[in-house]
Amino acid sequence: MKIIVLNESKTSTPQINVERRCAVTPASVQRLCKKGVEVNIEAGSGELSHYLDNEYEDAGATIINDVNDALSSADMLVSVNKPSEAQLSVMKKGAIVVGHLDPFFQQPLIESIAEKALTAISVEMIPRSSRAQKMDALSSQASLAGYVMVMQAANQLPSILPMMMTPSGTIKPAKVFIIGAGVAGLQAIATAKRLGANVLAYDTRAVVAEQVESLGGKFLKIDIGETGQTKDGYAKELTEEQKAKQQEAQRDAIANSDIVITTAQLFGRKPPVLISKDTLALMKPGSVVVDMAATSGGNVEGSVAGETVEINGVKVIGNGNWSQFVAKAATDMYANNIYNLVDEFLDEESKTFALNLEDDILAGCVIAHEGKITNEMLLNAYK
Ligand code: NAD
Repeated sequence: MKIIVLNESKTSTPQINVERRCAVTPASVQRLCKKGVEVNIEAGSGELSHYLDNEYEDAGATIINDVNDALSSADMLVSVNKPSEAQLSVMKKGAIVVGHLDPFFQQPLIESIAEKALTAISVEMIPRSSRAQKMDALSSQASLAGYVMVMQAANQLPSILPMMMTPSGTIKPAKVFIIGAGVAGLQAIATAKRLGANVLAYDTRAVVAEQVESLGGKFLKIDIGETGQTKDGYAKELTEEQKAKQQEAQRDAIANSDIVITTAQLFGRKPPVLISKDTLALMKPGSVVVDMAATSGGNVEGSVAGETVEINGVKVIGNGNWSQFVAKAATDMYANNIYNLVDEFLDEESKTFALNLEDDILAGCVIAHEGKITNEMLLNAYK
């Protein structure tokens, strides 16, 4: 099997989606080669995550400059992001495309992959099961995002997070409010706690209260009636009445916080708006808000995708693509996820990727195959 990796920093949109990550590391290349997989890497692919061409070469990869030639004979393109139409059009029938394909919001691209008789594996659709944990890229990247958001907020805050008692006076610990306690939110809670902040958190899935408390955070109790989660553990969308109740109940916590970090997502849908401009206006000047979802619609009214803006003296950070700010760690984790995916389904004898769609992991993440879109959830969303 021949895998190809392209230099994604060359094709990413600067500012909003600058891409410093790469889908392989020299260590993952070495493990792939050991399994009998051939790896071609476009020159410079790992440079922004601090892996150099000669390290990939030493690990067994071939560095390529003529991308089209190598792409046309590749069996699998592994990437962090979605490929372009131009790249897809070069690939041979039956080849596999792996990456964050953003399938709910990229219907034309997924349809085009199917029309070209390519197979699409969307890492976002890998089930959140124990068996799939080692290949769960949503979790590896969200966890880093949680850490990055706290660090960026701390950098913008004109104060400190821990309590400091000195002869020159006492500084109280910063108050941090985290809305959404999934993978990113929990890591943000843990990071803010490690830095000494007072942490309060809220999530519509009441089951996470215990997890928040086990990290030393306080859980804000809001009675908005039945909320629940889907069978995959994702939050259900709230009714208009519930949304209004949540916003009202969070108002004081937001007004009293030095840092607010919003991490709320709804799988396959636009993220919910959690903070209105009116509530933002209640925060003290110098406070900081991080909107994790700024590049996909926004949890915070007024946040700007890819930028930090100041609204009534409050800094609102909307950078997006958070894990690429710690590109080396993000590449290490993503490359492991990709290696584990390939390894799990590599047929040792034929050295091909065994596309058994009855396997529950592949049934979830293979979204286009043999000319058709194969994922029911997407077919319903595309109607
Ligand atoms: P996500 O990114 O879809 O959402 C982030 C958080 O936002 C979630 O906790 C969600 O409940 C919350 N949220 C949504 N609307 C909200 C609102 N209006 N106000 C406040 N919070 C709101 O979630 P995720 O981090 O990808 O996790 C999704 C699920 O997958 C969770 O149940 C998680 O425990 C589970 N998970 C399981 C595994 C595993 O078993 N291997 C691995 C990772 C995640």
